[in-house]
Amino acid sequence: MASLNEKDLRKEIGRFLSDRGIDLFGFAPVSRWEKYDEVHPDFRPQELFPTKTVIVAGMGMPLPIVETTPSAIHMELYRTVNRELDSTGYYLARFLNQKGIPSISFPRDGYGSIQIIKEKPGAAFAHVNAAKYAGLGTIGVNNVLLTPQFGPRVRWVSVLTEMEFEGSPMIENELCIRCLACARCCPVDAIIPRDDRFKPDFKSLPCANRAEELTKRRCYPCGICIKVCPVGEDRKLFASEESMSLYLNEQGEGKDPLDVKLYKRWKHFRKWGSWTEEEMKDGKK
Ligand code: SF4
Ligand code: SF4
Repeated sequence: MASLNEKDLRKEIGRFLSDRGIDLFGFAPVSRWEKYDEVHPDFRPQELFPTKTVIVAGMGMPLPIVETTPSAIHMELYRTVNRELDSTGYYLARFLNQKGIPSISFPRDGYGSIQIIKEKPGAAFAHVNAAKYAGLGTIGVNNVLLTPQFGPRVRWVSVLTEMEFEGSPMIENELCIRCLACARCCPVDAIIPRDDRFKPDFKSLPCANRAEELTKRRCYPCGICIKVCPVGEDRKLFASEESMSLYLNEQGEGKDPLDVKLYKRWKHFRKWGSWTEEEMKDGKK
């Protein structure tokens, strides 16, 4: 391992990840978990494996599909991205192991069911902090990593490795503009902003209950707090200026948006391929 050149290997990893369709990646030295002291010691990568660096890789979720949530096409996108990430993490760890560098991947979710999350919120390892320490973004009021490129519309996988890599530069300024759209649009009021600190209070049980309901309707996850976030260059690509007012209208904060073409499109995707709220109430499922 000592004979491996860090810079060459870094480039090789970059090529490997780009070839697999990864949009964003970075290197997080374990010293950053100590420096920021935001994660309980038991959940730090150096406690879970003889880790020196966490390599974090992310794939963007296209905004026009995220906007249809809750829908079957959003669920399918979520599953596809999860599969690709798990497979990429597995193959990157394997690639490093074959070079004699002990490494393991931690999958993008890491829990067995919503019921488990309801009773025991959290997973053994948090990608959100790893991605922040890998210089990929900052954590927003919605409790998710916001990136300059995709806002919070990115999913992550992490590879814990014994190889020491120089850390990617961190993003020092908060990307979250505290517009509170995530809190206002959450259908179960799970995000409660606080005036005395940046981090909000978060009610995990109502959020998990909604995930459970959407799983039964075959249109999980919820992700409304992710779709409404204004941060991200992806909004320019999809020219989504019209969307922002519609998000609030959908939550009853404005006039009826039913006559807007974009809204009709979302409704179409919500109706077909999964059970609607009304159909569930009618006992049709
Ligand atoms: S995922 Fe949905 S229910 Fe959970 S916090 Fe975000 S908007 Fe609220
Ligand atoms: S929606 Fe607004 S408050 Fe919420 S995370 Fe995004 S920028 Fe921050």
